Amino acid sequence: MSSDRIARWIRPAVRALSAYHVPPASGLIKLDAMENPYPWPTELQREWLAQMPSVALNRYPDPQSTALKSQLRAVMAVPEAMPMVLGNGSDELIQLIAMAVSGPDRVMLAPEPTFVMYRMIAEFTGMRFVGVPLQEDFDLDRNAMLAAIDQHQPAVVFLAYPNNPTGNLFDRGTIDLIISRSPGLVVVDEAYHAFAGTTYMDQIGRQDNLVVMRTLSKMGLAGLRLGLMAGPASWMEEFEKIRLPYNINSLTQMSAEFALRHSAVFDEQTSEIRAQRGTLFDALKAMPGVRPFPSHANFILFRVPSGRGVAVFDGLKRRGILIKNLHRDGSPLADCLRVTVGTPAENQQFLAALRAEVG
Ligand SMILES: *Cc1c(COP(=O)(O)O)cnc(C)c1O
Repeated sequence: MSSDRIARWIRPAVRALSAYHVPPASGLIKLDAMENPYPWPTELQREWLAQMPSVALNRYPDPQSTALKSQLRAVMAVPEAMPMVLGNGSDELIQLIAMAVSGPDRVMLAPEPTFVMYRMIAEFTGMRFVGVPLQEDFDLDRNAMLAAIDQHQPAVVFLAYPNNPTGNLFDRGTIDLIISRSPGLVVVDEAYHAFAGTTYMDQIGRQDNLVVMRTLSKMGLAGLRLGLMAGPASWMEEFEKIRLPYNINSLTQMSAEFALRHSAVFDEQTSEIRAQRGTLFDALKAMPGVRPFPSHANFILFRVPSGRGVAVFDGLKRRGILIKNLHRDGSPLADCLRVTVGTPAENQQFLAALRAEVG
């Protein structure tokens, strides 16, 4: 029986996992995955396509992504002395960090609720995950975080800044304390930097255990799969050893470098999304029974009347709108849903559907 072989050989930690579920979205207005809703201007698409023939697909890609890295350094203001490691999305970088520090007695620590991949990657790389509950306002619980760090001596702490799925920025004083109190690495994950207006990028190098992670996904290039981390050379050199040499393919290198040369286009799109976030927040706030939480990202977490979370989510889907259901019985996110900021038209359709569901 193949199931016997599975039970014998697949590690228990892997068998216990469920795969990351991506719900089918065909025919639906897709507001579940923090994608930028805007395509490239036609002229830019043409210029990009014109470059395609210059990509030598018969050759391996540049293993160092040299040209792309210098473009990233300029656009993301990565300090000159701080090396970068690139990943096939920042998901791969989280995995790479975990693989470098993992062990049965090793701990990955993060506040919760947060980005679910931290816990999942800790589990399948054979680490222990410690989640420290956020306060009711979704900010860090300073005393609980520091106590957990003292007790568990985590190899790595992940702080999403802003946090997903809550959308807020954690208190910087508390983050600074966490960095100085941590025996291991602290990763500030700035996936939503384009919408946040604040960063730790200019802090790397000041403490020897701080790494900042970014991604091109949420600013408008989710399909390319490109993430980066930057930090002290001593850490980056170790991570670089276990990065697979050709993890950033030639088309991604060419396309990302091209896109970053036209970063003004993405700045314009993301500033439009930030403006729409404000409009959407105000409309949610004005809706009886709905409580939105302030966001520095391109999504808004909101709570619907008690016991209605799943029904509202299902109702929206029947009306053609896909958002994210975060409800779990008894969790801090009970009856909470998360909507990505879309185009003004998409946001209006979402609001009309929500009004019909909670009204
Ligand atoms: C979406 C997200 C990521 C993953 O981004 P990719 O680069 O697309 O893999 C990482 N961290 C947080 C907090 C996210 O929300």
